[in-house]
Parts: sequence; structure tokens; C-alpha cells
Amino acid sequence: MKIKIPENANMIINTLISKGYKAYAVGGCVRDSVMGTQPHDWDICTSARPDEILTALGKNNVIESGLKHGTVTVHSGNELYEITTFRADGDYTDNRHPETVKFIRSLREDLARRDFTVNAMAYNDAQGLCDYFGGTDDIRNRIIRCVGDPDKRFNEDALRILRALRFASRLGFEIEQNTAASIRKNAGLLRNISVERIASELAGILDGEYCESILMEYPDVLCVFLPEIKPMIGLEQKNPHHIYDVWTHTVKVISNSPHGRLMRITALLHDIAKPQCASVDENGTGHFHGHPAVGAEMAGRILKRLHFDNDTISKVKLLIKYHDLRPQPEPKYVRRLISKTGTELFVPLMELKRADALGQNPDTIQYKLEYTDSLERIFRELTADGSEFNIKTLAIDGNDLISLGISPGPEIGRILKAMLELVIEGELENDRDELIKEVKKQIGSV
Ligand code: ATP
Ligand code: MG
Repeated sequence: MKIKIPENANMIINTLISKGYKAYAVGGCVRDSVMGTQPHDWDICTSARPDEILTALGKNNVIESGLKHGTVTVHSGNELYEITTFRADGDYTDNRHPETVKFIRSLREDLARRDFTVNAMAYNDAQGLCDYFGGTDDIRNRIIRCVGDPDKRFNEDALRILRALRFASRLGFEIEQNTAASIRKNAGLLRNISVERIASELAGILDGEYCESILMEYPDVLCVFLPEIKPMIGLEQKNPHHIYDVWTHTVKVISNSPHGRLMRITALLHDIAKPQCASVDENGTGHFHGHPAVGAEMAGRILKRLHFDNDTISKVKLLIKYHDLRPQPEPKYVRRLISKTGTELFVPLMELKRADALGQNPDTIQYKLEYTDSLERIFRELTADGSEFNIKTLAIDGNDLISLGISPGPEIGRILKAMLELVIEGELENDRDELIKEVKKQIGSV
């Protein structure tokens, strides 16, 4: 098989070969090429040691990153390429990092330490595809399979457990039986993995085109670092709006959400408080009173634990808090909602509401989507002129109030907020003269 390697990458490979080394494109780019999709970057592996790479390619082109791990980053054209020396990993003692890394001269051995057969292929124009572990067959059959003994490979590096789920979720591959059994058996090892790595793999799993089946098949793996989802699994909702248990519903909402970390993680956590807010009324109908507010707080704690950044945390909390609000589709009520979400998060909130509807009783989806569309239409009309609906964009400020004789202090903030409310409710124009007139009326100076 022939793979079209970008010219700059091929130049690096051919330069190394011309100096007597072996060199190949390797890993994800070969996998994607064999699958017929466009790789997002091209990694290169070589028998040349880091110092030999420097000499062969000229120091000027090289950014010396990760040198001791055998990785050299090279500028070629406008692109950066990672070149990694063939290596064999020493013993692993912490379920993540090898104690030592040994540089070697054998491609086969380098491929043997890679995680999955589909990721353990190399290619150059001279030799064609080097596939010692059945990667091509596994791509054809759409299978994720460990290179070697899965128990051993997951014990060496438990992050591979989440990588397996991520690749399966992205590529739509099945996880091979022994690999799958080993994932379930060894999931507890994820406790030894840093939360940053877990959070980043989790985002990748949620973002996959095929996340639905992975999330349905492997929720217990997620429970290792998200025990809060355990009681969602199998929790029936006993409510005409719902035909799925809370976890199945959640998974459908995730896969119907727009791609991207914020929306997918919000979808994952939007009903996280349902188990603890669940009740059944005298008619046998299930309710989850208060779950958005409780869920927002829970989500905040979970994301803090996973070291998400504060900006994401506050956005997720806000979206969850308001995900179940159903204002009448009239400007007055939409303005009120905007005052809670701000303009930036209004559309993401509508997207969450649509995804939420798509995970509910199919008989109810149509009217819920139409309702959400009408809220968004009103939002677009209200904000068409760029008006922002917050205190900063109010046509008066604290200085105006001080000039009216109000003493500096909390009273200023209170009055500005009251004026903003009136503007949002549509009772006043955001116009300086009108606002000043209203303030004067309120403080009794007119
Ligand atoms: P992506 O398209 O997501 O970049 P990728 O296959 O290129 O997929 P990377 O994380 O960029 O994945 O890693 C590059 C290659 O390095 C992999 O294809 C695999 O061969 C190897 N690799 C990466 N991480 C591990 C790991 N934890 N254990 C074993 N091999 C790994
Ligand atoms: Mg890659």
C-alpha cells in the first residue's frame, strides 16, 4: 500500500535514511492513512539517537524538547514534526511511567511497546507498510486490540485504558474481547493516574462520534474517577417525559450535544443530582425537584477535583443550573433569562436544551425543539443590535448616581441593579435621560 506522506515529513525521513538510519512515519498518521482519513499530524520514528538526529538534520531546525525521552521536535516548512528514537520501555512501577527508557535500533521492538495494534504500524516509501501485529486487519475489522498481553500493558500504563475507550469512541471500533475484559478488570488502576491526564482523555471519549456505545458499555470505568454516576445507571424516571433511565438519557444527551469539551462535559453532568433529588408522588410519577441547582454545585466540585479551569467550571455550573428553566417564549421572559445567562452562554444553553430534548420521550421531542427554537429566535431579535444586558452596558454608571447625591457605597450597586432589571424587563429603554429620570423618581428627588 502507498501512503502519501507530506513533502516536509518525507524530506526528514529521507535525510535520515540517506545518513544510514532507519526512519518511518509512525502511529496515528499511519493508522489514519490506512483508514483513508486525513492525519492531523505526522510523527516520525528513527533508529538515530537524539544527538544523531541533531547532526543529521542540522541543529538550526531542531527544538530540543523531551530529549531524554528520545523525542526531538523539528521545524520543516511551517510544520513541526516530532521525531522519536526507537525505544524499549524499562520496568513500570507506578502504572504510568517506565523507570528507564532504552534507545534501540529495532523498529519491531519500538512498535511492540506501542499501545494498540492500529497504532503500532510504520511506513516509509522504500519499505512500504510495516505491520507486525495485525494493525491492518484490525482496522479492516474495526477492532481496538492491545499489542501483547492486555493485563500486562494496562498494568504498565493504566492511561491506556482510557486511550482504548477514546479511540473506540472516535473511530467507532469495537474493543476486542480480551482487551475489553482486561479493561474492566484493571479499571481500578486509573486511581494511580493524574487527574489532568484523566480529564483530557475523558474529554476525548465524550467528544467521539461513537461515544454512545462506549459510554453505555463501559460506565464502570468512568465510575472509578466519577463515582457520582454510579446511581444514575438503571435509575428509572417514571415520568411521561422520559423513556430511558437517567444514565441512558445522559448518554443520549452527550451524543446529541455539539462537539467540544464544554458542551460534552456539561451534558455528562447535567443530571448528576437526579439520584439524590429523586422522589415519586402519590400517582407513582417520578420527580427530581431541585436537581439543576444541586447538580450545578455537584458539577463544580467534580470538575474542581479533576482540575478543570475556573472559567469552564463556572460556565458548566451556570448551564446546569438553568438547563431546566422553561420561560414563556415572550421577550419579557427571554430578557430575564438573558440576565441570568449573559449573552455568551444563552445559545449554548439552548443547545443543551435541544440535546436534552433529544434524549427524552420521542413523542415530546418535536414540541420541545420548536419551543427552544422560539426562545433562541427571540434572543436573536433582542440582541441583534449588540445590546448586552449587564450593568457595564447600562447607559448610566455609579458616577451618575453620585452626581445625583447618592453616597458611594452598596446603595449605588443596588440602584444600578434595579435599573438593569427594568431595562431587561423592557419597562425602560437603556437611555441615559430615561434612566436618570427613573432614579430621581425612586430616590424621591422629583
Ligand atoms: P491522535 O490522532 O489522537 O494523535 P495518536 O495515535 O497519534 O492519535 P498520540 O497520543 O499522538 O496518539 O501518540 C502517538 C503514538 O504513540 C500512538 O499512535 C502510539 O503508537 C504511541 N503511544 C502514545 N501513547 C502511548 C501509551 N500510553 N502507551 C503506548 N503507546 C503509546
Ligand atoms: Mg498523534
